[in-house]
Amino acid sequence: MRNERLGLIMILASLLVIGVIATLLLNNQLSSREDRIRSQGTNLARLLGEIPWEQLANTDERQSPLQIMGESQGDPDFAYGVVVSADGQARRQVTEPGVIIPSDPLPQEPSGWLGERIIDQGDSRRPFIEFHAPLFSQGEFSGYIRLGYFKPSFGLSQQEISFVATLALPIFLLTPLFYFMLRMEVRPLRQVNQRVEQLLEEGGANRVELHASGELSEFIDRFTNYIEFSRSRIADLENEQRGLVTSTKLLSYRQSRVESVLKTIPDAIVVLDEAGAISYVNPKVSMMLGIDAEDLRGKTASEWCISPEILSYLSRFESGHLSGNVPDPIRFTPELNKSITVEMRAYPLFSPKNEADVLGTLVVLHDVSKEQQSDRSRGEFVAQVAHELKTPLNVLSLYSESLIGEDGGDEAFRVEAVNIIHDEVERLASLINNLLAITNFELGSSPLNKQRIRISEFLEDAFNNISQSGKGKGLQFTMDLPKEVNAINADKEMLRIAVNNLLTNAIKYNRPNGSVILALEEADKYIDIIVTDTGIGISPEDQKNIYEKFYRSDNEDVRAQPGHGLGLSLVQEIVLLHGGRLILDSAPGKGSRFTIRLNKSSGNMGFVA
Ligand code: ADP
Repeated sequence: MRNERLGLIMILASLLVIGVIATLLLNNQLSSREDRIRSQGTNLARLLGEIPWEQLANTDERQSPLQIMGESQGDPDFAYGVVVSADGQARRQVTEPGVIIPSDPLPQEPSGWLGERIIDQGDSRRPFIEFHAPLFSQGEFSGYIRLGYFKPSFGLSQQEISFVATLALPIFLLTPLFYFMLRMEVRPLRQVNQRVEQLLEEGGANRVELHASGELSEFIDRFTNYIEFSRSRIADLENEQRGLVTSTKLLSYRQSRVESVLKTIPDAIVVLDEAGAISYVNPKVSMMLGIDAEDLRGKTASEWCISPEILSYLSRFESGHLSGNVPDPIRFTPELNKSITVEMRAYPLFSPKNEADVLGTLVVLHDVSKEQQSDRSRGEFVAQVAHELKTPLNVLSLYSESLIGEDGGDEAFRVEAVNIIHDEVERLASLINNLLAITNFELGSSPLNKQRIRISEFLEDAFNNISQSGKGKGLQFTMDLPKEVNAINADKEMLRIAVNNLLTNAIKYNRPNGSVILALEEADKYIDIIVTDTGIGISPEDQKNIYEKFYRSDNEDVRAQPGHGLGLSLVQEIVLLHGGRLILDSAPGKGSRFTIRLNKSSGNMGFVA
């Protein structure tokens, strides 16, 4: 298709060349014909103008110089010759066949007597070039001689057609020759084109090998080199791009790892840039300060904080000029989250490449409410313990002093004093036992010392010991302990403290003639140790708090009994350490039922015959 177009272009180009050459030639011919007519006509008109009027106008027609001139004319462009009087009347004339002499008036002024003019006949008739000269009779102006020639036109004559044909023939013959020569020259380019197309289909994977002979070989060699250069450059760029993609992935992986670490840590993290504007905040910030993290980004301290203390603390890190050591942290209560206390610590962030370069500040906000609370609780705990120890000690001191003094002689007083001292010592012992157990738990220094316990026997023993102390209260004690229950793995001493506390409470908070029942039940997956009493019961509000250390109900029946509020918290802790649950079922006035549920996990139980 492309070759056909090339051939067509060549044919059109050759036709155009022929046309241009023919036009130039014809134009040249035309102007030389006009020149010839002009010189011939002017000369002839002048020549005839020198002949006297009489001779031209009056002599016998056959003898007239005009006639002689007309007949002797061999010029194909000659059209007419006419002698006219001064008033325009034709006196003598010669014309070519078919020519009608135009009757256009001539100029009367002497200056226009001699000259030439173009006479346009209109229609499709050829115009004339007319030459005219004045005629004189004895020195007097008598008329004109007018000579008309056909104005040469652009049409081709027979002669001219054959000339143009002769010119066109070699050009036409040369065109296919040029065409074939051109195709010969273009062939290597076509081959290169096909090869490049093939390479593109192969996806540019292969080496480029292009060959051409002749004039084009140098160009093709350079072209091949250029393509090879481009290929290797593209390969380099692809390698670079792969490297960049890998490092970008690595960076984003590292960034997401750092971000996930910052998200996970329990503290709120704020990163300030060199100008002190916030560039990163982790989600904990919103929770801690009660401000939307998005609202903080890009803001400087003065834009998000009004506390002068915080502003002055952060200002010490501004523009990286931290003089001296990192200042001590400050504590504050956030304006929008007044329920907590926050500790703020800031650290300058140094560039890993240059330690003198400070990139910004890392601000860590730590919720210290729980620490404050536990500090407070510890103080309260010590005060409570001191108080609980002091009360029985006062009683002991009072009675021992009385026994040594005068009252010691009275037998009845001695019996009363010994009983009271015994009770107070027991109370002190139980308190100290509980305190020791709690302290051990809190210090983490009391890992469970588990051993196989025959649970029925163990409970029977505990029940008998405790029921002794409750004998005087007129209570009914019942045990419901199946003998065939599997042995369990538990810390005997701890379990004893737990059961003792439950039984002691069941006795303490009972009613006259009430009952205390200790039962043991075994299910597929657990065993239940159940202590039931028919005592004062526990209100729903108290049920929420009775496991807290030192909590005692405000109920006056409770307050009437001695106690220190540590028993149930200890029971709860012991049961949890054994992986069990403490279940309470109680209603005020109806008694209470505490269940210690211990799982029969593998290794925990063993069969006892
Ligand atoms: P306390 O030394 O006061 O008995 P505990 O921790 O053993 O401390 O008990 C906490 C509180 O729970 C008691 O003060 C009492 O109000 C309530 N309580 C515990 N056991 C019983 C029970 N069996 N019947 C009624 N109230 C009980």
